[in-house]
Amino acid sequence: MQRSAVLSKNRFPDFFDLLKEFGAVFAPRRVSQKSFSFKQVDHPSEIAFEALRTILPPKKFFFQQRETIISYDKDGVKEVKPKVAPQVIFGLHPCDLTGLGIMDKIYAADPPDPHYLTRRKATLLVGLSCMPDKHCFCKAMGTDSPTSDYDLFLTDIGDDYFLQIHTAAGQSLIESQSELFGAASEINKQGFKDFWTTRDQAFPSHFESENLPAIMDLEWDNKIWDDLGNRCLSCGNCTPVCPTCYCFDMVDVASLHAQEGERAREWDSCQFVGFAKVAGGTNFRPGPVDRLKFWYRHKLHGFEDPHGLQTCVGCGRCTESCPSGIDDIVNVVLRLQGKPSVLVTDTPKAGGGSSAGGCGSSAGCGAAGGTCGDAHDNSQSGYLQIERRGDDSDA
Ligand code: SF4
Ligand code: SF4
Repeated sequence: MQRSAVLSKNRFPDFFDLLKEFGAVFAPRRVSQKSFSFKQVDHPSEIAFEALRTILPPKKFFFQQRETIISYDKDGVKEVKPKVAPQVIFGLHPCDLTGLGIMDKIYAADPPDPHYLTRRKATLLVGLSCMPDKHCFCKAMGTDSPTSDYDLFLTDIGDDYFLQIHTAAGQSLIESQSELFGAASEINKQGFKDFWTTRDQAFPSHFESENLPAIMDLEWDNKIWDDLGNRCLSCGNCTPVCPTCYCFDMVDVASLHAQEGERAREWDSCQFVGFAKVAGGTNFRPGPVDRLKFWYRHKLHGFEDPHGLQTCVGCGRCTESCPSGIDDIVNVVLRLQGKPSVLVTDTPKAGGGSSAGGCGSSAGCGAAGGTCGDAHDNSQSGYLQIERRGDDSDA
């Protein structure tokens, strides 16, 4: 199989038409002054090539925020199959591709999830190179270059894109209009290497991740968890924005006359107070300290399950989205490792970091970000804060 090719940027509109022949194209679009969202695009001019991280990660295309699994009426129960059409997700950066690879493992594991997998099989993933900002730490997590979770990947080498071709689906797309693409010259190959060397040196912050699981075990009782957890608003912002948070709740909704209804699954968050509450009223993680520490452990250590995956890919979305400024993973890790912190992230903002301002509690607390300290059950307020940053409803 051909492994690489070159596409002149002048021919990008023709490449875009080729993608559209495969299916509807979704790419980052600007939705507010500072925010981007994966949305359908009909013309290359609508693509925000400059986008670094979108509000929601691409998991929203496969693991939808809410979907009906079964419906029922007086005649019986019906499985609701997902409506799936071929689609292309364009502009995925290495961290998001790795995140999707983790989601693939989770949702393909026994028992496989037909809703997720049917959508994944109908999708072509086209990656795009990027330069890190102050919140990016994919290099520390080892997710900073495309490895196996894409069909095509474009690296910006000036007047051209250097294309890496990884799958038969990517190859067949290239072969369907081969006159668009050239063979990579020695100059193109050098441009490719130069880009990735420059990028490697562009990360403003870094930590050594080899000892992370051991550090998370050793520092389970570190005071840092109280410092951070007591500032946590339990708003749940950090989970929908994470490319690898995959938890959901099942909700039964019956009609008032009880003749019909549906069972749906919805995104859930381990930061919500009810997440670990079980019958009889026991809550295994009753306070924000317990919940925040649990979330950090999953991201940086991994569960002791068959997958055992560390699930942080270093995208920086939680750092940017936390209204209390406490999902500063780089500095948390450095503190746990006993190393000096780095000044790359914003400190907690007065009135909260989100445009919503205040605590964000649905209980109407209104305390400035970082000053509340109460364990509000904010249920959906985190999602509302995200929506206020820009419309990310297209999936
Ligand atoms: S934990 Fe934060 S930085 Fe890591 S992948 Fe999730 S959102 Fe991105
Ligand atoms: S976004 Fe910040 S304040 Fe909200 S639940 Fe996550 S850690 Fe807590």
